[in-house]
Amino acid sequence: QYAQAQDDFEVMQNAAKFFAHQLRKHKNSGEVITYLKNRGLSGEVVKDFQIGYAPPEWDGVLNALGKDSKTRQQLVDLKLVNKNDNGRHYDFFRDRVMFPIRDRRGRVVGFGGRIFGQDKDDQGPKYLNSPETRVFHKGRELYGFYEAKQAHRTLPYVVIVEGYMDVVALAQAGIKEAVASLGTATTTDQLQMLFRATSKVICCYDGDRAGREAAWRALENALPLLTDGVELSFLFLPDGEDPDTVVRDEGADAFRERLQSSQSFTDYFFAHLQEGVNISSDTGKSALLKQAKPLIERVASQFYRDTMLDRLAQLLRRERSQLDSHFNKPQQSK
Ligand code: ATP
Ligand code: MN
Ligand code: MN
Ligand code: MN
Repeated sequence: QYAQAQDDFEVMQNAAKFFAHQLRKHKNSGEVITYLKNRGLSGEVVKDFQIGYAPPEWDGVLNALGKDSKTRQQLVDLKLVNKNDNGRHYDFFRDRVMFPIRDRRGRVVGFGGRIFGQDKDDQGPKYLNSPETRVFHKGRELYGFYEAKQAHRTLPYVVIVEGYMDVVALAQAGIKEAVASLGTATTTDQLQMLFRATSKVICCYDGDRAGREAAWRALENALPLLTDGVELSFLFLPDGEDPDTVVRDEGADAFRERLQSSQSFTDYFFAHLQEGVNISSDTGKSALLKQAKPLIERVASQFYRDTMLDRLAQLLRRERSQLDSHFNKPQQSK
């Protein structure tokens, strides 16, 4: 174990500063700023999130930050720089709009980079995220969480969305309570982090198949965290929309109204499980019981479990007492 010449977080922060500086100073700056303006972002929100620009050159970060071989190796470790088979170093992010990802303490731990402009089909995926490094563990970070905490002494609620642009567009509209779960499904770790900061979480993923699948996975991952007093709900957007497009089209007030009328997790739970099941038939009822049982057993709160069992009994047209014999007795807690 050797001491780094510079702290990893310092290097990541310097990279964020470099990208932010390029956004103002690079010769492509006008084009990038036009893109951000077209997406409705103000200079202020760009500054709040320290959005930047990775220049198209292959040696931007490398020249700015990689002074000696030790630091260059550190840049490689932090996945800011790649090293090819011939030992040549080159920038990992090129010609992309850069979103620094901060941990809960505000330290930059990774980046998301988006291509912009036209005719860039040859430049790889729309979004490129930092791979996992010794400071970046995807399933444990939430984009925008630090910024949301900065905006509030205590968070009244948190909205989980899919993308960087969703978080930034909502903040631009004055809804500064959004975080993004960085591409993959929202993990139990991420939900736990949120429920430590607020008792109310609203999941609002894209109005497409991937978004609907993400919602169900988030619900499954949340079950063990549903203790008394915790509120979890789901806001489903119209097909083809995401929080960014909706808040831009309809404005913040309309979006807040949508948040107000989000579906409680119990309503969503039973609506989802009834999809494609005919519960007027016995086979349908038994299928519903089979699917609901293991999930309800994972719910942390006795109260919520009870509420769900009441609902299930109603749907199955059984007495609660008949239903209870199917269920494990809850673990006696000390
Ligand atoms: P935009 O509005 O900028 O077009 P978006 O945020 O709506 O982007 P989606 O395609 O809906 O983008 O994806 C949602 C999120 O999923 C992105 O913000 C990003 O975090 C992640 N993502 C999307 N595509 C990729 C990809 N190819 N590789 C890694 N992550 C991705
Ligand atoms: Mn989508
Ligand atoms: Mn989207
Ligand atoms: Mn979008």
